[in-house]
Amino acid sequence: MKDFYRKSPGESLKILNVTDKGLNDEEIKKRREQYGFNELEEAARKSPLQVFFDQFKDFLVIILLAAAIISAFLGKLESTLVIMVVVIINAILGTVQHVKAEQSLKGLKALSSPIAKVLRNGQKLEIPSKELLAGDILYLDAGDYVSADGRIIESFSLQVNESSLTGESESVLKFVDTIDKEDVAIGDRKNMVFSGSFVTYGRGIILVTDIGMSTEIGKIANLLESAKEKKTPLQVSLDNFGRKLAFVILAISAIIFALDIFRGRNIVDSFMFAVSLAVAAIPEALSSIVTIVLALGTQKMAKKNAIVRKLHAVESLGSISVICSDKTGTLTQNKMTVQKAFVDDQVLDYDSLNHDKVLEKGLVLMALLCNDAVTVENKEIGDPTEVALVNLGEIYYLDELVIREQYPRLGEVPFDSDRKLMSTVHKFEEKYTMITKGALDVLLKRSSKIELSSGVREFTEEHKKEIETINREFSMGGLRVLSFAYKEINEGQKITVEDEKDLVFVGLIAMMDPPRNESAEAVKRCIDAGIKPVMITGDHKITASAIAKQIGILKDESEAMEGFELEKINDEELKNMVPNISVYARVSPEHKIRIVRAWQELGNVVAMTGDGVNDAPALKQADIGIAMGITGTEVAKDAASMVLADDNFSTIVKAISNGRSIYANIKNSIKFLLSGNTAGILSVVYASIGALPIPFAAVHLLFINLITDSLPAIAIGLEPHNENIMKEKPRDINTPILNKSFAIEVIIEGLLIALVTMLAFHRGLSTGGAEVASTMAFATLCLARLLHGFNCRSKESIFRVGLFTNKFIWIAVIIGYLLLIMVLTFRSLRGIFEVAALNTSQFSYIYLLSIIPLIVVQVYKLLFVTVKE
Ligand code: ATP
Repeated sequence: MKDFYRKSPGESLKILNVTDKGLNDEEIKKRREQYGFNELEEAARKSPLQVFFDQFKDFLVIILLAAAIISAFLGKLESTLVIMVVVIINAILGTVQHVKAEQSLKGLKALSSPIAKVLRNGQKLEIPSKELLAGDILYLDAGDYVSADGRIIESFSLQVNESSLTGESESVLKFVDTIDKEDVAIGDRKNMVFSGSFVTYGRGIILVTDIGMSTEIGKIANLLESAKEKKTPLQVSLDNFGRKLAFVILAISAIIFALDIFRGRNIVDSFMFAVSLAVAAIPEALSSIVTIVLALGTQKMAKKNAIVRKLHAVESLGSISVICSDKTGTLTQNKMTVQKAFVDDQVLDYDSLNHDKVLEKGLVLMALLCNDAVTVENKEIGDPTEVALVNLGEIYYLDELVIREQYPRLGEVPFDSDRKLMSTVHKFEEKYTMITKGALDVLLKRSSKIELSSGVREFTEEHKKEIETINREFSMGGLRVLSFAYKEINEGQKITVEDEKDLVFVGLIAMMDPPRNESAEAVKRCIDAGIKPVMITGDHKITASAIAKQIGILKDESEAMEGFELEKINDEELKNMVPNISVYARVSPEHKIRIVRAWQELGNVVAMTGDGVNDAPALKQADIGIAMGITGTEVAKDAASMVLADDNFSTIVKAISNGRSIYANIKNSIKFLLSGNTAGILSVVYASIGALPIPFAAVHLLFINLITDSLPAIAIGLEPHNENIMKEKPRDINTPILNKSFAIEVIIEGLLIALVTMLAFHRGLSTGGAEVASTMAFATLCLARLLHGFNCRSKESIFRVGLFTNKFIWIAVIIGYLLLIMVLTFRSLRGIFEVAALNTSQFSYIYLLSIIPLIVVQVYKLLFVTVKE
């Protein structure tokens, strides 16, 4: 290893053989072949074959396999065959589900993978961090993750948090100077940055020295465990429920086994039956159905620009009762255009701007210099506020690149949303000048003079008041106002935040950022859905209120509050106030955490948006942290559970509505599984208590388990979105999915299916004997369960949601039906599945009875389930 911290930037560039244009295509190709990608190696994922074999570790499957072996020994090869087929098909289905879910989650991860800004072939561009190479010139800004090790070539107050490497939570101020010592610890190599850390402040230019496993973090990290998704609360609670239910079912099976023996039935047959009953009745698919429905649901959401980073978010989405959203870019378009200016005590409309006026031109010059945005070949790069200023330059025939070359930047204190200011240093005719721009309320307090065409004057309190009035007028029109000031400094003076005082005020530039077209509609949908939208912005209160009013978030001015007011009240008082506040203006990121907490303490599930590095704690505190995909920093994205690919508020509302649907679908799938299993159990228990012949053969139960369980359950999980779901109130997060009313529905529907099954059984007993009875019971249970799939699609009747809106359920039911018919009609299959040949009247009976639960439930829904329109 070369100790790059002991080399100067120039030497480092030479060692790595890089010019000031960065790597070129040829070098990139060569180095890629030599060094590979910038990735930490992960422990290998399980292959599909391993996943397949894992399916055989399940307790029930082991019992089944034991039963198959016993059958084989007893010469019942047909049973062995059926069991083996069932087990293998089940394992294949399980593997397919697992692999599919894993793939879609992996796809999602790739969508939100970090990017890096580099200089290559003399051009600044963004590439996936994975593609970084040693020798790349990397740009770092506040909020960026450092994804490789590198030597700092330029630093502008660059501060980096290296806690993941050193454990030190304070940020480290970095510099360029060479360190002339040996064996300097990582934490003290302040002219280097290391992969795994992130930029908390300032910016810097880095020469990448090491990537992937050769970085410091790569050396200390053993092979990373392949990132395993933790189970969601719903999955955990279903697993627990499934375990308890399994116990109950095993107990019932044991009792049935004992009763059978007691009644003199063959021990092996009784054992097979008890095992099959347990297998058919234990809903082992619960958790995997949830995984697959969640995974497929998140895939759909990603297509609509909501990228879910943590699966549990999908569950909580449906419970969100408050959305705290940024204004700029989320509710507004983030396309700013200058509308007005104020300079030399005069308000200027865009049309009356006059490029001959010296002071006016001076103001624009300041706006171009104290500015990081550029327009290259009509492409706007940078913060839209600053882009608007660059565009303003055009009227004055000022090109930002030319101006910046003429008056190069000699120092700077970068913008941050806490301070709301930015300063840069330039040299004008031998004078060193610091230009400061930012929020007027902050800048006025720091200005002691004002520049007018008559010269620089003392800045009186009255004069400040007059300017505040102008600012208010601008803001009431929804304009975002920036103010400008300057002061002379000494040659070579390194400016800091402390220098931003005693400024000479010059003027204001006000710009319009119109609301997004879809914001008002999305706000209305939120309110209809019982969700409170709240605007939290760094912008001025009056500007924010004007925009909030336009889109329907705010009704009355009294619903707006400022950051400084928030500081004066304690958490208890804030808790009492939050329900009445719709707009928070001039807030800093710390205020956001307090607002989220206050809402949470009132029992709400809160979504919070954020983009900056300082927003990360609030994003973590919120139940659902939402980061901006376009303007958001990598740190914010990492802290969030969801990323908006289009930064758009209406995407949040769409995601909530999807989240609600996904949850409802999961609940319906579970209802389908549990009610069907209940029907099976009740039928067996009924026959057992009534000392009737056994209603099902073991293979019947296995067939039902395979055919009528998984496929329709997944199909129900894929039920398309129903807009009525946004007319309901948010779901209470503390109400478990398996609550009392749910249990009652499951039992009633299970009873209904059991009832028709037993009617078929009795009909069979009276018309053809035990084998016909068992065949009729089996066929009715199977068909009634399949048809019950339609009942479980939605709370509403299928005639209201549309008979053909879910094609998957049709496919699942038709496949199930065809298989059943094959078993009942093909002579060779009849033997294997232990079914008797039925006559037409018996068949008609089966159809008639199986459709009854469907009719009863649909009539009930049509008559009694009302949905808000
Ligand atoms: P939101 O939180 O809704 O995204 P915002 O973008 O207005 O709102 P900030 O970016 O924190 O919030 O800006 C807060 C204030 O800082 C603005 O009202 C403006 O006065 C000032 N400001 C914004 N951008 C700059 C900048 N690039 N340079 C100087 N001052 C700025």
